[in-house]
Amino acid sequence: MTPICCQQCGGLTQFRITYDTLFVCDTCGNLLDPRDIELDGNEIWTVDTEGSLGYVTDPAVSLAEMSEAIEEYLESSDSAYGQLASLERHRVALMAFLDARSEGIKPRPTYTWVQVYDAVNEGADVVNDSLGLGEPESDAINLAVNAAIACLEKPGTSFEEMIESNYSDDTTDEIRSWWGWGK
Ligand SMILES: [Zn+2]
Repeated sequence: MTPICCQQCGGLTQFRITYDTLFVCDTCGNLLDPRDIELDGNEIWTVDTEGSLGYVTDPAVSLAEMSEAIEEYLESSDSAYGQLASLERHRVALMAFLDARSEGIKPRPTYTWVQVYDAVNEGADVVNDSLGLGEPESDAINLAVNAAIACLEKPGTSFEEMIESNYSDDTTDEIRSWWGWGK
């Protein structure tokens, strides 16, 4: 794994896990909240057996990279140079994958849009069918389902945007007035 070091005191000291949920720099005492660890979307932070903080490439990304490298290899049959480049690309991805696995990190399960959509709707049905809910509660659950799907498509979707795309017949003010929900 690649160490994550404290930038406040020169970038040489690797953060170490503390007994609460923070990381600490032993040189300057700087504290780091896990939520403030900045990584790109292809990286995952982790802690080694010594308690030191670092990051590895997401193994799911490495697997996809290996798969692409093999395709590239098969498509470059008339180019020894191209095949060597593909093998090298595969080797680098494999090393990153093994690095992540040695830290105990497995590829995260991925879900398709349809799977998430179905699960959210099914979850709402389970609750609706199992409880004797009134219309206000059912309406609220349906709003939450629509909001969840809207946020799946576009994270950070506002209430107004969600209403606009799902409830063309009603304005946000009308929906706020449905059950005296207000606000
Ligand atoms: Zn420091």
